[in-house]
Amino acid sequence: MGLIRLIILALLGWIAYGLYRRYQQHATKRDDSLNAPSQPDQLGSERMVRCQQCQLHFPEREAFMKDGHYYCCQEHRDHV
Ligand SMILES: [Zn+2]
Repeated sequence: MGLIRLIILALLGWIAYGLYRRYQQHATKRDDSLNAPSQPDQLGSERMVRCQQCQLHFPEREAFMKDGHYYCCQEHRDHV
């Protein structure tokens, strides 16, 4: 009865694999929901400024400054 034992083992392995995959999907989904609320906090602690050229909002630390105005990139800063 070696064949039946083999089939049962294969079935058990397949079920275990299915459960493992389901668990992994749950784990990644849970990670996403955990990461999501932390992002607005990061944005909230960071000052947002607006590009004088294209009105785009972006973090102050990425800003290019000229004459007290913020710009999203060098091109927009030099364009004005
Ligand atoms: Zn811009």
